[in-house]
Amino acid sequence: MACEEGLCTPAPDVIDIRALQQLDSAHYLHPFTDHKALRERGARVIVRGDGIYLWDADGQRIIDGMSGLWCVNAGYGRTSITRAVAQQMDTLPFYNSFFNTTNVPAVRLAARLADIAPAGFERVFFTSSGSEANDTAVRMAWRYWQLMDQPERQFIVSRRNAYHGSTIAGASLGGMDAMHAQGALPIPGFVHIDQPNVAESGAGMSEAEFGLQAAGWLEQKILAVGPQRVAAFIGEPVQGAGGVIIPPSTYWPHIQRICDKYGILLIADEVICGFGRLGAWFGSERMGMRPDLITFAKGVTSGYVPLGGVLVGERVAEALVERGGDFHHGFTYSGHPVACAAALENLRILDDEGLVERVAHETGPCLKTAFARLAAHPLVGHAESIGLAAGLNLVRRKGETVHDCEPFARTLGVGMLCRAHMFDNGVVMRAVGDRMIVAPPLVMTCAQIDEMVERIRACLDLTLEDVVGRGWMD
Ligand code: PMP
Repeated sequence: MACEEGLCTPAPDVIDIRALQQLDSAHYLHPFTDHKALRERGARVIVRGDGIYLWDADGQRIIDGMSGLWCVNAGYGRTSITRAVAQQMDTLPFYNSFFNTTNVPAVRLAARLADIAPAGFERVFFTSSGSEANDTAVRMAWRYWQLMDQPERQFIVSRRNAYHGSTIAGASLGGMDAMHAQGALPIPGFVHIDQPNVAESGAGMSEAEFGLQAAGWLEQKILAVGPQRVAAFIGEPVQGAGGVIIPPSTYWPHIQRICDKYGILLIADEVICGFGRLGAWFGSERMGMRPDLITFAKGVTSGYVPLGGVLVGERVAEALVERGGDFHHGFTYSGHPVACAAALENLRILDDEGLVERVAHETGPCLKTAFARLAAHPLVGHAESIGLAAGLNLVRRKGETVHDCEPFARTLGVGMLCRAHMFDNGVVMRAVGDRMIVAPPLVMTCAQIDEMVERIRACLDLTLEDVVGRGWMD
């Protein structure tokens, strides 16, 4: 049964929510979801968005503190993107870029991306997602070393708790134990080092020292694998899904020195950090990286239509283009004209409204101040932000420094409890264990940041009542 009366039209006033939830649990397998548990609760039905707000089918207005899934940078309700998409669909809904053909929006978008990318990035390969972008980057790295007559360079170094997608290469690159545990992952040749998590591992030294130490783990891994066998290192400038883990300022410059020393490629996964999230067009610019490949997705279209890709720096482009011949890689939807049209309009909005600069100079500092205030809450061990991404740790006992806080037992699920309060009280905040994170749309104003943070504070109070009531905290 695909379409009962009222269920095929999205108009919220005619949706029978319970019937929809039943159809949902009967037929729709969601990403990263325990379906038995979801069947008990019923999925929350989101029906509309405008600016920084979402509405669910019960009519509740919710502040979207997560930009959908780190992607709706330009905010909801951008009718100019809708028009650009409709116009492109009317003109040419699809044509492929294989067999020496191209299309107008794909060419224009490639040129526009070369404009805003760091110097030396003149070429782009399009995909439809961040996972495909990272798969593509790995295939490019392997092909590059083949063309350099060093085909034994096949190892890719990544980090624990990194997220690089859910395809087999993406999940292998990622450092998520739970994902690896459900299959024969990571596949051979994908190795990991520890993440630069100051709170977790940086006790007894300054942040700067810890940054150098954490970067040094890359050199140890290169030496263990054999420098002549390492193709590339991949990292998110700031780990997103892992919990907004902000590395010390010494970390990336030292990683860069190590990559340069051993000649290995640096891949910046900018799927979250790209397109303004950190107050620069690309996070690598902000963090002192000089990558060879930049993977992107999400914010390039603000999520209105799926699109991803790889920006290819000079070094790899020269080999691939001038000496590589046919690169046997690509997707039906590489350079999809509708997705590219959406991206062009989205980038125009980000640019014309100065949203990237606003994050750097106005809203980013507002979020920092607001999160610093939250750090005083009895349940919060530490709180930090960068650009429009922020995280705070829920702890059983606060300490003098981040290293003396006492965490809750993982099994208690305090983060999930807190997340449920947030959603019930009209704000989306994500829980990564007991770390609560936000990454709101870049259109959020300072006044709206304050509104969001006040709601977060109220929900922290409710969570505190819960944990005290259950005897989990003195
Ligand atoms: N890289 C990073 C850093 C991501 O955060 C994500 C998605 N959250 C991906 C890759 C995968 O992107 P997608 O889900 O579009 O495949």
